[in-house]
Amino acid sequence: EGLDVTYDGRVYTVRLQGDANAPPAEVLLPPDLPVEGKAFQQLAALAALKHPSGGEVKRVRATPDFHPGDAGVAIGSVVHTEGLVVPGAVGTDINCGMRLHVADIPVEAFLARRDAFVERMKGHYFFGTRNVALGSRAVEALLREGLPGWLLETLEEPLGMVAKADLEQLDRESARVYLGGALEGDPAWAPTGLRREGVVRDPGLATIGGGNHFVEVQRVEAVMDRARAWEWGVREGQLAFMVHSGSRDMGRHVGLTWQERARAAWPVGAPIPESGILPLADPELVREYLRAEATAANYAFLNRLLLAELLRLTLRELFGDVEAPLVYDVPHNITLPWEGGWLARKGACPAEAEQPVIIPGSMGAASYLMVGLGNARALASASHGAGRARSRFSLSRGGADHREEALGLTGVDCITLRAERRIEEAPAAYKPIGPVVASQVEAGIVREVARMAPLMTFKA
Ligand code: 5GP
Ligand code: MN
Ligand code: MN
Repeated sequence: EGLDVTYDGRVYTVRLQGDANAPPAEVLLPPDLPVEGKAFQQLAALAALKHPSGGEVKRVRATPDFHPGDAGVAIGSVVHTEGLVVPGAVGTDINCGMRLHVADIPVEAFLARRDAFVERMKGHYFFGTRNVALGSRAVEALLREGLPGWLLETLEEPLGMVAKADLEQLDRESARVYLGGALEGDPAWAPTGLRREGVVRDPGLATIGGGNHFVEVQRVEAVMDRARAWEWGVREGQLAFMVHSGSRDMGRHVGLTWQERARAAWPVGAPIPESGILPLADPELVREYLRAEATAANYAFLNRLLLAELLRLTLRELFGDVEAPLVYDVPHNITLPWEGGWLARKGACPAEAEQPVIIPGSMGAASYLMVGLGNARALASASHGAGRARSRFSLSRGGADHREEALGLTGVDCITLRAERRIEEAPAAYKPIGPVVASQVEAGIVREVARMAPLMTFKA
């Protein structure tokens, strides 16, 4: 409705009717995957975005996990801009991302201690049983410089939970974090609670966050690219640990602050776009925004690192001296420089040549480790998941089929304190991961490296 849509069997091209100047928006989507019209509307509106004082949207592309976003921008959107940036095209969970570790623990040995593991991890993730207080210098260094700064300060002034030997491992592992986990931030962008003198007890740090965020234990069930898997330390039969979380209240604070600032900076008298999504064009504001976004992104890198560290500590308590090395940590909500302008991804995983790509399925389906091919038409981006097929609401309302089989929950081990999470986040809520992955392999965006099957999933 109000859209010009064409489909060649693989890629939809969408444009607002009567807006010949807007660049087309493309969606890679195989015919067997569901899609809601609202997502197309959101994508076309993003492509049509303009700022009265200039700059332009060059291209918009969406990944096959594409679905409508609550805040006006479709999940799975990638937008290339010049002369303007769009805070709403990243959203408020800045640097939400995926982190993957592996460990040489036999599955039987792990399952034999399942209950002890679950008890400890529930304590850490849901009741804060481990002290993750940070020195204020470490916090400042983290927000300003990212993981390397935090590590240096933490070496000086140790963080209760992290042993010195682990800090050395964490330092080596920074190389396996996207951009080294080191963006140029500014601590002034932190909400006030984070900037107090002395020790910082941030209740949001090392917490998963609600909804689709998770920490999952998986088994590497198949390796498709042996050479690359070997190089990345991944082998069949290993345990894998996948962390999906973001910048919690820090990103929310920055995101909401900049939605207001974008509104305040909008030229008086100029019509506000119907979508409510406002770009920034003033170079000084753009610079400031990107600094703020980077600050929240640095926080998210640490949040995922600490979530994984709590896992690693627990594994060592139960299974002796396991290393559980990092495979990769990668953001899917972030703005980065791109071909003279910027590329904003909202729910899309960077898929640059030779770089690992992490694509989770659901708590009842496989997840994939892939390698990026730097596909230019896809703006070097892959899906960051299977994507929602059904809304939270449609699953939880009365009359919906809540049988375990209907929801795909048979055999699923979901650890949560909220009974409704199992239903809202059930495998049936997500698209089938098979065609999502296959369509991106076929399009030359990624290649498969390994497939993991879920063993247990923590959801807050
Ligand atoms: P989002 O970043 O949009 O919140 O979600 C990312 C993706 O994570 C979803 O599209 C979905 O495919 C995947 N996902 C959601 N919940 C789970 C889970 O419990 N386990 C796994 N492996 N994947 C999940
Ligand atoms: Mn998120
Ligand atoms: Mn996410």
